[in-house]
Amino acid sequence: MSFVVKMNGSQNNDIHGNFISGNGVHHVSRWSVKPSEMSKKTLNPIRAIVDGMKLTPNPEKPMIALSIGDPTVFGNLPTDDTVLQAMKEAIDSHKYNGYAPSVGYQKSREVVADFYSCPEAPLDGKDVILTSGCSQAIELAISVLCNPGDNILVPRPGFSLYKTLAVSMGIQVKHYNLLPEKSWEIDLQHLESLIDDKTACLIVNNPSNPCGSVFSREHLHKILSVASRNCIPILADEIYGDMVFPGCDFQPLAPLSSDVPILSCGGLAKRWLVPGWRMGWILIHDRNDIFGTAIREGLVKLSQRILGPCTVVQGALESILNDTPPQFYQGTISFLKSNSEICYSELSTVPGLNPVMPSGAMYIMVGIEMEHFPDFQNDVEFTERLVTEQSVFCLPATAFEYPNFFRIVVTVPEEMMIEACIRIREFCARHYRPRSQDSHELDQ
Ligand SMILES: *Cc1c(COP(=O)(O)O)cnc(C)c1O
Repeated sequence: MSFVVKMNGSQNNDIHGNFISGNGVHHVSRWSVKPSEMSKKTLNPIRAIVDGMKLTPNPEKPMIALSIGDPTVFGNLPTDDTVLQAMKEAIDSHKYNGYAPSVGYQKSREVVADFYSCPEAPLDGKDVILTSGCSQAIELAISVLCNPGDNILVPRPGFSLYKTLAVSMGIQVKHYNLLPEKSWEIDLQHLESLIDDKTACLIVNNPSNPCGSVFSREHLHKILSVASRNCIPILADEIYGDMVFPGCDFQPLAPLSSDVPILSCGGLAKRWLVPGWRMGWILIHDRNDIFGTAIREGLVKLSQRILGPCTVVQGALESILNDTPPQFYQGTISFLKSNSEICYSELSTVPGLNPVMPSGAMYIMVGIEMEHFPDFQNDVEFTERLVTEQSVFCLPATAFEYPNFFRIVVTVPEEMMIEACIRIREFCARHYRPRSQDSHELDQ
């Protein structure tokens, strides 16, 4: 059966009904199944940009993708045997097939607490919430701190998930600038100028995706004073914590402050090289009792919507955190450093490119002097043509709200990194126009 619908011309397109002709009125099925407002507001800018690009590699050259932030794709960075063994034992124990509490097993929470606890910022089991990856940790943290109509402060350039989550929840996003000439430190004046009475949370991502930067202790102190002065809690995305190059020091944010309440988000994905295992956590730092029981209870309630991470991984956590040998972490870091150095030294001598040497994580950002590449409008066109001509794909930093840069993932095998840099050099040489020639042309 069908219902008569009064049609008003401009709404015709919205109705996906079946029209019945012949009797002079439009009939439409009573079915009306449409995607929710939330689903429509959930936008992944990386997909939006990449899907809009014409990515047709040069058939003469094998494709090299420097775009994927997954360290496992090339098979050159396996996780440690200890990690795999822990997982096998957890399965064989038959103890981890049931439901765990929504925030995770108490034992597993304690293991994470002990791993990250330090005298200046002590943690115990009740301060840890286990989540499905760091992504869910970020989602819970934003959800518990913010209401629709509030705003959050996020880095630019920055990881796109913060905005994707916030916008879908009706939370406004304000971007604070990072300064490439100061190793991607936060422009603190700009940051503070964005704060208003609707600001519910400051997101700090250290070490950074996409910059590979690592903040000094002094800089972290300055960030904390901005938060403290304005009474803004911090969401610290520390998923790359401890993934810093030798000679550089990762300082977690929480031990540096006793008054600013901090939700530190992390997980196994990057440091243990198992992003698919979906194990993350929130560390609740609240030594001044600002969050109190209310925020903790809020997090527990939110965790009950879906329940925490896979119980098998929870069972393996103790051994993963406590038995993985230091050589495993060191091996990953020295690989990432060596690849970053290769990439940096190759690209820093390419006219028109300005790579910024990272200090950690697994990325390097490269600035494009667009005025020297008149063949292209922007970083999206630049990286698109790099695929067409050289079969090298780098993510345009427009995906991180930062045009005229591109991001390279440094987890690829060394030979690939070298070959990619040679091809990028060739591409730039072909399209580079020196400025003097421009002005010469103008003179004529
Ligand atoms: C990869 C990444 C995450 C997500 O980690 P998962 O544990 O895979 O959800 C969060 N934040 C940043 C900055 C990342 O790069």
